[in-house]
Amino acid sequence: MQQPDRGSLRAPLDLRDVVLTHTRKPSHHGLSLLPTLPVKPQALADADLIRLRHVPLPEGGKTARDQGRQPEPLTAAREGSRSVHKLILWDIDHTLIETGGVGSEVFKDAFEQVTGRKIDRLADVTGRTEQVIFRETLDLYDIEDPGDYFEKFVQVQAASYRARADEMCQRGRALPGAREALQAFAELPDITQTVLTGNPKPSAIAKLETFGLVHYLDLEIGAYGTDDSIRPNLVPIAQARATTRTGHTYTRETTYIIGDTKSDVEAAHKGGAQIVAVATGDTTVKQLRDAGALQVLSSLREVTELPL
Ligand SMILES: [Mg+2]
Repeated sequence: MQQPDRGSLRAPLDLRDVVLTHTRKPSHHGLSLLPTLPVKPQALADADLIRLRHVPLPEGGKTARDQGRQPEPLTAAREGSRSVHKLILWDIDHTLIETGGVGSEVFKDAFEQVTGRKIDRLADVTGRTEQVIFRETLDLYDIEDPGDYFEKFVQVQAASYRARADEMCQRGRALPGAREALQAFAELPDITQTVLTGNPKPSAIAKLETFGLVHYLDLEIGAYGTDDSIRPNLVPIAQARATTRTGHTYTRETTYIIGDTKSDVEAAHKGGAQIVAVATGDTTVKQLRDAGALQVLSSLREVTELPL
């Protein structure tokens, strides 16, 4: 029998017991994502707790891809009543998912459909918003924009992602631990989670749908590459939308970006949020730390305990 890849087994096993602690100290708003269990007994005695238990996968059962379509069952129990409302803003590419190269192919195809120009390269994409990537790619090929190219590109790109969903499922993946982290946060009534991404909204939704991650997130209040081309500007946009949705105010202390690039770190610092960086893209732990991220994980598989 073919062995599942390491990531498909490790994440659910590591996160079978997820403990989220809410300290009672009013001044403590820091989010820390600690790599190991168990938690010290005294820390638990002082904390409000959420315990999450994943129902184990059947022996030789689902692949990571199957899990993308049908999340494993989860039970949750809340202990304690403290409630400081927090907003979590997820980056998408190389934080929650990878497209396995489909993303750049879709970009090139959509670019050609809109501009009539076949291209074999595009501008640097890492951490950048789609408007910037698109306009710099136009410049790269000395193409003049009649004014509506990006608007058309957004629609064509999303349609292409949807048309190639099965292929993206085959070649790409939800990153190890991503689903479990989303599930854990989704169980908390005092946490709202959505996305902050350079992707246009329609493409962001198409990608997350492909990997079965949409129902953990409130995507209507997210901030997207179609809202602004400057990433830090997306933070107050998401905060304002979340406030309209929930009635709570979200500040730098109660807003968290989780992302994989120096641009995510910059967006948090300049836009008004905490940053939890994950080195699952091209940017190393050291580079993320050097950019100013205090919390850096090598993978979302490290999320087994969440003191907020
Ligand atoms: Mg990213």
